[in-house]
Amino acid sequence: MKLVFLGPPGAGKGTLAGLYARKYNTRHFSTGDLLRAEIASGTPLGREVKALVEAGHLVPQRLLGRVVADRLRGMGDFVLDGYPRTLEQAEFLTGDGSLAPDAAVFVNVPEAVAVQRLLSRRVCEGCGEITNTADIQESDPCGTCGGKLVTRADDDAETIKRRYEVYIAETAPVTEYYRRGGILLDIDGSGKPPAVLARLEAALAAFRAAGHDNG
Ligand code: ADP
Repeated sequence: MKLVFLGPPGAGKGTLAGLYARKYNTRHFSTGDLLRAEIASGTPLGREVKALVEAGHLVPQRLLGRVVADRLRGMGDFVLDGYPRTLEQAEFLTGDGSLAPDAAVFVNVPEAVAVQRLLSRRVCEGCGEITNTADIQESDPCGTCGGKLVTRADDDAETIKRRYEVYIAETAPVTEYYRRGGILLDIDGSGKPPAVLARLEAALAAFRAAGHDNG
């Protein structure tokens, strides 16, 4: 299936999308990861978007649309995380027959929970694995590759607030767009990742049983 993951910053979209993609052997593509990699390598795109991303603003679709389409076209099934984030982006996917999602997964968590997750999130510089300070010592290395754990540039309190405002204004309408289209799966994102994955699997099974199986 072609799945898109939606939800507020800190909902756990990336973690859930990654778990799902590994278990079902599907391509996982995160626009946030792509942009951070471009910024870290200092590519022309990275230089153009650095200030926007680090301040919690959206990257314009004119810079992102082609990159997303080039990555996904002809790939068959995919799990897309962090895109679409605006109605313009949602319509772009729908309008391109081969990229139209079969289902949109809305990872739903209360704002207070999401903000706490963002403030305590650490990311491995080496392999990108996400951890939480509740589960590690502040000085611990990455449990997967031994790399250094760092705080993301946009995970400070002020930038988190801006990302939330952008989410409410720009991305919440995307959820309604897919709800109207009858392909929204509303998942309770609270608790540990395996519990959320189990809820997603149950929702997908019900979705397929209702006749929405496109593969
Ligand atoms: P989160 O969901 O935790 O806020 P992401 O890693 O998905 O973070 O995205 C980080 C940042 O990358 C966003 O705040 C934004 O600046 C940029 N970005 C990612 N995806 C998109 C997109 N689809 N459209 C515009 N900007 C994006």
